[in-house]
Amino acid sequence: MPDVRQRVMLAPYTTLKVGGPAEYFAIAKSEEEMAALAGFARERGLEFTVIGGGSNILVSDDGIQGLVVKNEIKGVSSEVDGERVFLKAGSGEIWDDVVAHSVEAGWWGLENLSAIPGTVGATPVQNVGAYGIEVGEVIASVRVLDITTGEISEIPATDCRFGYRDSVFKNEAGRDLIILSVTYVLSRMPAPRLHYRDLEARFAEHGPVQVSVSKVRAVVMDIRSGKFPDWKNIGTAGSFFKNPIVSVSDHERLVDIYPGLPAYTDGEGRMKLSLGWILDHVCALRGYREGNVGLYERQALVLVNRGGATASEIKNFSKKIREKVFEKTDIEIEMEVRMLGFDESNSKK
Ligand SMILES: Cc1cc2nc3c(=O)[nH]c(=O)nc-3n(C[C@H](O)[C@H](O)[C@H](O)COP(=O)(O)OP(=O)(O)OC[C@H]3O[C@@H](n4cnc5c(N)ncnc54)[C@H](O)[C@@H]3O)c2cc1C
Repeated sequence: MPDVRQRVMLAPYTTLKVGGPAEYFAIAKSEEEMAALAGFARERGLEFTVIGGGSNILVSDDGIQGLVVKNEIKGVSSEVDGERVFLKAGSGEIWDDVVAHSVEAGWWGLENLSAIPGTVGATPVQNVGAYGIEVGEVIASVRVLDITTGEISEIPATDCRFGYRDSVFKNEAGRDLIILSVTYVLSRMPAPRLHYRDLEARFAEHGPVQVSVSKVRAVVMDIRSGKFPDWKNIGTAGSFFKNPIVSVSDHERLVDIYPGLPAYTDGEGRMKLSLGWILDHVCALRGYREGNVGLYERQALVLVNRGGATASEIKNFSKKIREKVFEKTDIEIEMEVRMLGFDESNSKK
């Protein structure tokens, strides 16, 4: 059983670098330790919260009641089956290390998701996505621990209900499930996915080049370095809000007022709008700052802690941004970042 400490400040465990103490705090380095900690919380009637790299959370200034477990379950293994490779990774593995490993092996599937901070275990939670792919497309199954019963089971991807930055793990049915490992299904045959605008443009720039999986990773990393601040030095959780998904008629109404508004079909008869463009060109908020909080100069969707921000400052700032977008577009935007320890927390665990 790992050490359980009391009143551990959580700010250092988040990339936004804000947040008060966990009532109880422990680190789980194996499935057994995670199960033992779940038992500890169950016996004492404590709320249980698991965190990985803390790169998609806003922790309240009052901290989090109950037990917070930082997940460091490691282990990577692979099995080749013809052209396919099943790559299994412990949920506490650093996501980008796993991507790098797959790219070095020459396996296709994860390269567009290069350089996303955080852990493997969080990737199915919000179905991380970037550069034209969502991780749910390459997940075979997810191994989970039910904290209410201690049972371990394997959930096939088809039961994970992956959607745009959404999955069963963010909803009621998955609220008690802790992800222990994830199995990805990759391809040994070239399978480049270059349809995303920025990627397509970068590959077109260089003329007909030999596309390799490592080249795609390198290009993605290069594009990202121009768009995101260096999260190791600047407090940020990446894109703070989701791109809004609206009806075709709302999209037409907005394009009439704001020609050039980039939008993509979501494949289900609705349109996904570029919120970065709206914040930048419609609301003129790129680089906007109030006190210690601001929107990044190079990408308005990215909120940054300019140093010394509190969680309530960030929450109030994000509320203002939501109101400004609503004033101009009549559209309600949602946060992508998960709020933990607030009255209206959207953490399910
Ligand atoms: C600079 C920057 C760029 C980013 N770019 C992208 C991007 O391109 N695309 C994208 O989708 N996201 C992006 N993100 C957001 C973030 O990196 C991802 O959401 C990432 O998957 C979060 O991983 P984490 O381990 O830090 O999760 P955390 O922030 O620690 O946790 C996030 C949520 O998942 C839950 N959770 C974590 N681990 C588990 C587990 N093992 N079992 C069950 N629940 C769990 C937590 O309780 C919490 O609700 C970016 C963030 C930053 C800072």
